[in-house]
Amino acid sequence: MGALEQLSALRPMSRELISRLADIVGLPHLLTDTAAAPYCSDWRSRYSGTALAVAFPADTQQVSAIVALCSAHRVAIVPQGGNTSLCGASVPLADGTPQLVLNLSRMNRIRDVDATDYTMTVEAGCKLAELYEAADQAERLFPLGLTAIAPHCEIGGNLSTNAGGIGVLRYGNARDLVLGLEVVLPDGRIWNGLRRLRKDNTGYDLKHLFIGAEGTLGIITAAVLKLFPRPKSVATACIAVRDPAASVALLAHLRATCGDKISGFEIISRSCLDLVFKNIQDTHEPFARPHEWIVITQLSDVLAAPLDVALRDALQAFGDGILEFVVTTDKHHAERWWKLRKNISDAQKIEGLSIKHDISVPISRVAEFIAQASADLRTAYPGIRIVAFGHIGDGNIHYNASLFDAAQNTAFIAQHEPEVNRIVYEVVAKLDGSISAEHGLGQLKREEITHYKSCLELELMRNVKRALDPLNLMNPGKVI
Ligand code: FAD
Repeated sequence: MGALEQLSALRPMSRELISRLADIVGLPHLLTDTAAAPYCSDWRSRYSGTALAVAFPADTQQVSAIVALCSAHRVAIVPQGGNTSLCGASVPLADGTPQLVLNLSRMNRIRDVDATDYTMTVEAGCKLAELYEAADQAERLFPLGLTAIAPHCEIGGNLSTNAGGIGVLRYGNARDLVLGLEVVLPDGRIWNGLRRLRKDNTGYDLKHLFIGAEGTLGIITAAVLKLFPRPKSVATACIAVRDPAASVALLAHLRATCGDKISGFEIISRSCLDLVFKNIQDTHEPFARPHEWIVITQLSDVLAAPLDVALRDALQAFGDGILEFVVTTDKHHAERWWKLRKNISDAQKIEGLSIKHDISVPISRVAEFIAQASADLRTAYPGIRIVAFGHIGDGNIHYNASLFDAAQNTAFIAQHEPEVNRIVYEVVAKLDGSISAEHGLGQLKREEITHYKSCLELELMRNVKRALDPLNLMNPGKVI
């Protein structure tokens, strides 16, 4: 059934709203009923809700008109990009709240690429992979390194989650890559903050309120992004390390010897490799014998000079924490290693749900986190499978738990998730870490965070929310 055919089944208020939404975006760009359903379930099929409709605006003016209309009708808005959120942030609630999903995918114009300013002005619905391509065509680099998900996620979603990825060590999080924003506020007004300035100390830096807010304070419609020189030489190493502690020491050593040429430093455990080899085609052991822990690291530079010699020398100078290593400047060879890292989530998804943790601790405490959390979990649940990997260069570990026994896994998660979380997060708290390093809070961690932030911090967050969104219409039930 199309949007208008649905009208008779709706209450008068909803009927009027749908009809006026159709006037704003045009009928083909408004979905209701079963056509809306795919936009109401999340990537992991873990959260589903219901929405009055899904609207696909074409430009900022349409977003503004929709938000003002919803505000007048007291209908909540769930902003949505690629809908790849891992914490249930981008789908409507299942509690009957009247909600509209506002999907930004049609707003996918690259407004400007300025190779002199090293900036790119883009609309929120641009896919991240398209931004890589646009920067590359201008012989520049946009370094937000979420390559596994880049064809699906959108820059509005990346900014709203302050996404990280593999390049954070060198280039920073999404927050660090933004110069200006355009935002539609919860009452429908448009804030044009699309500045290209590298320096601007004129009071509060408002853009940072909206970055990482998971759509709870307003709708990002466009952004000015920073570009970087495009590297001409790259060297990659796959390294078998003795344990996570050796990888932390190796990172410190490489930073001292290679400086900011390091553009990635990722750790992968044996359980991840086993999952990938089992479930992803054309993947292979990087070494003749299996190792418990491997690290993939990359150096890159704008100078054309080869980096493999420097990388090999640096690795050889590191003591016995390295069991063996291979260095390459061949792109295809390196891609085979990166394929192992990029496919861990997909390989795990094939084996069913897992209890996901996306934690960070100070880099020096990563090994302690892995050892302590694993010991505590295995004591409580001897049959548990721990899948640990991630951005060791940022102290950010993806630490997922499930049962080896697939038949019992779903029941185990339903019954024990809160206790598994408590065990892991207690270790995180003891090490002064964060329970969400890059995925955000969404619905998944909205309650959990109240145990790990101070009352004052939570009060300040609520004050900001009230000041900007007094009617609580922007993505309610997420974050706070
Ligand atoms: P959505 O999922 O649609 O939305 C995410 C949040 O942003 C929601 O709260 C939504 O309401 C809000 N939002 C979306 N667009 C807007 C907008 N225009 N204005 C205001 N609010 C908006 N994250 C990392 O940081 N690093 C990783 O390495 C990484 N790897 C991943 C790998 C896989 C396989 C998957 C599934 C996810 C991964 N993620 C990773 C999670 C990642 O943060 C998100 O997938 C991505 O940044 C969200 O983009 P999206 O367009 O899909 O946003």
